[in-house]
Amino acid sequence: MKKRPSLSIVIPFLNEEAVLPLLRERLGNTAGFPEDWSLILVSDGSTDGSVEYVESWMREQPRVKLLELSRNFGHQAAVTAGLAFADGEYVAVMDADLQDSPDTLIEMYEIGKSGFDVVYAVREAREGSLFRRLCYSVFYRIYGRLAETPVHLDSGDFCLMSRKATDCLNSLPETVRFVRGLRSWIGLKTTSVAVRRPDRAAGESKYGFWKLMRLAAAGLTSFSTRPLRLAMALGFGLCLSAIGLGLFYLIKALIFDLHTAAPGFATLVVLLLFLNGTVMLLLGILGEYLAQIFLEVKRRPTYVVDRFVDLETESEDRSEG
Ligand code: UDP
Ligand code: MG
Repeated sequence: MKKRPSLSIVIPFLNEEAVLPLLRERLGNTAGFPEDWSLILVSDGSTDGSVEYVESWMREQPRVKLLELSRNFGHQAAVTAGLAFADGEYVAVMDADLQDSPDTLIEMYEIGKSGFDVVYAVREAREGSLFRRLCYSVFYRIYGRLAETPVHLDSGDFCLMSRKATDCLNSLPETVRFVRGLRSWIGLKTTSVAVRRPDRAAGESKYGFWKLMRLAAAGLTSFSTRPLRLAMALGFGLCLSAIGLGLFYLIKALIFDLHTAAPGFATLVVLLLFLNGTVMLLLGILGEYLAQIFLEVKRRPTYVVDRFVDLETESEDRSEG
């Protein structure tokens, strides 16, 4: 049987031809990798020249492997696929755009070897638009309050995991994967390193606003049932206030004036809008969970592999994931 590499690095990419040469150069200039490290580049349905670039890179450096998904399944699915194929004693996940530094990865690897199963990066400072930073910060605060399991606040998917942690993560059954949530859910011996997150080295972000919103919804609904209970509490509170308000008006009318016309029109409209809005919001929350259940019960795989090419073992598999 083939010996496991000491370190496998999983990097998902979607149309990153502008970035991949910079990534290659940067990895080449980073000291501290073990002799037998390997790199698993997961193409998440790339349609530009990035796959061709990786193919030529592999021919020169057989430690580089290509895992090509059959179409774009999304970043989390691509990470999941990469983790399933990564066979290292330690497995790391990072982005292709050099927002995650290879030097930090080496630091994580050293920390991991000193006896940790999970080492993840915490973003102390982040570059990029104020709006985006605000969104991230608000999301993590809400997520931190709502999640019912331990949470790695302000951390993305950039991390290092031991074989044990990787196997454990891979064995989790859900189809909709919020990898950073699953990673904290498994527990084990965990620590973090603080990082500054620079802007991407080249190219455009592949995470648009709606993709980020979907990620946030998946994160919240897969790790918390509190929004549902919150909905119930809110509904209960509103009912009580409605009863209170009704009684108040009744008593007021009985004591002061039985013939009040309809001066409360504004109040009515405001209440009507507010209550309808609340009902819609609660339906939306229910819908999110329903969608999650719907996706899970279908039991479709998270991704489909078109091919896995490993020139070190000269194998090319065309298999389903
Ligand atoms: N990515 C991917 N599939 C997608 C979207 C993104 O594999 O559907 C990859 C992308 O190529 C990059 C990483 O995921 O390597 C992070 O994406 P990006 O840098 O665009 O997101 P951001 O850092 O802007 O949140
Ligand atoms: Mg990025």
